[in-house]
Amino acid sequence: MTELNPKLQDIYEEVLRRNPGEAEFHQAVFEVLSSLGPVVTKHPEYVDSAVIRRMCEPERQIIFRVPWLDDKGGAQINRGFRVEFNSALGPFKGGLRFHPSVYLGIVKFLGFEQIFKNSLTGLPIGGGKGGSDFDPKGRSDNEIMRFCQSFMTELYRHLGEYTDVPAGDIGVGGREIGYLFGQYKRITNRYESGVLTGKGLTWGGSQVRTEATGYGAVYFADEILKTSKDSFDGKRAVVSGSGNVAIYAIEKIHQLGGTVVAASDSSGYIVDEKGIDLELLKEIKEVKRERIETYARARGGATQFVNDGSIWDVPCQIAIPSATQNELNGDHAATLARNGCKIVAEGANMPCTPEAVKLFSEAGVVLAPGKAANAGGVATSALEMQQNASRDSWSFEYTEQRLAAIMKSIHHRCLVTADEYGSPGNYVLGANIAGFIQVADAMNALGLI
Ligand code: NDP
Repeated sequence: MTELNPKLQDIYEEVLRRNPGEAEFHQAVFEVLSSLGPVVTKHPEYVDSAVIRRMCEPERQIIFRVPWLDDKGGAQINRGFRVEFNSALGPFKGGLRFHPSVYLGIVKFLGFEQIFKNSLTGLPIGGGKGGSDFDPKGRSDNEIMRFCQSFMTELYRHLGEYTDVPAGDIGVGGREIGYLFGQYKRITNRYESGVLTGKGLTWGGSQVRTEATGYGAVYFADEILKTSKDSFDGKRAVVSGSGNVAIYAIEKIHQLGGTVVAASDSSGYIVDEKGIDLELLKEIKEVKRERIETYARARGGATQFVNDGSIWDVPCQIAIPSATQNELNGDHAATLARNGCKIVAEGANMPCTPEAVKLFSEAGVVLAPGKAANAGGVATSALEMQQNASRDSWSFEYTEQRLAAIMKSIHHRCLVTADEYGSPGNYVLGANIAGFIQVADAMNALGLI
């Protein structure tokens, strides 16, 4: 592991002590602190004002019971979470994740990352995250609706367009946002569109929000390519996952002339040397909600479904991990580098383990961290909030231009900051420092908060 500056090491040890057993949260904090050495050397006041310590402690953590009835009439109990991490720049903003692995440590890691990501967008949004250990797989539409209604029956009292604005994440897409918004509207008797983002286009949603995270990650990778006068044209790429982020990353890569040859879900991965047939993948994943093996059977030919090994064994020039945290470890990183991969842009949050991050740096593989590369989703959520506040709705073309401009600006900020702090081309350091300074300065301006 990287050595921390001694003052930052003290802060990290305090985080370990105060948050036992939350491995993912520890990892996310360590990753940010390991970039801040040059900042505290140049500006010791960030340590003296305790702003880093304050930033590691959420403003508020909410944990609640979610009781609901399954289709057989049986009582089910899940646990709901919302961690309102930091509101120095704007209302808490960040998605909800429904997945059996969710516990406080996952929600805190995601909420912590969200603070810096939201800051990088340059838009007025604070950081938060939430979710539940509810497993939507195999549940009927009615069960999903009853769960969402029960979840919102508790959560609504903590939300508001000026307070806390959730969106989707793993297991929470347009269907779930609809049920959640419907229940919020019933309980509050307010058509408060700006309280949730990722809404449907006919009831307050924004064009491009569905596509935004995947498109944004590819725009970011494209900006990296442009720094060496290169492009996606003719490039071979691998995108893990086959959910919201992955599908639209594949779509944008294909639009830019690249070919995505592999995608995955938690059951395995598919390799399609002719390039993923996106309409077929969307039909299987978005409409029928089936496993990815169905794609290989439906596509036929030489398409393979592989349920052992790793998607990172498939050679590529550009990799976009878009499934979940820690899905790409040191061994996977070594294989990717050996096979000629040059750019890794994180579509997911923290998909690369610390060993993978280190290996990429040593092997000269450019790594775009999630807080920069996948910020297009939350940025477009903030654009959805703008449209809701002004009772307006923008065209697809205009909204996509705004997204592309935001990704370009985040890329520029990362590069300029990495240069300023003595690590040219280091996007991880640039993203962490640029995100941190803006939030730290705002917190200090607001007094001891
Ligand atoms: P979805 O639920 O739409 O898709 C998730 C995909 O990842 C599915 O293919 C799923 O497979 C796979 N996956 C999830 N967990 C695991 C696991 N433990 N092991 C292997 N595969 C897994 O989620 P999203 O596409 O929205 O989110 C993907 C990632 O992107 C997450 O890290 C999320 O935090 C991040 N992100 C999402 C944003 C958004 O706007 N949606 C914004 C920024 C970041 P299976 O169906 O088999 O579980």
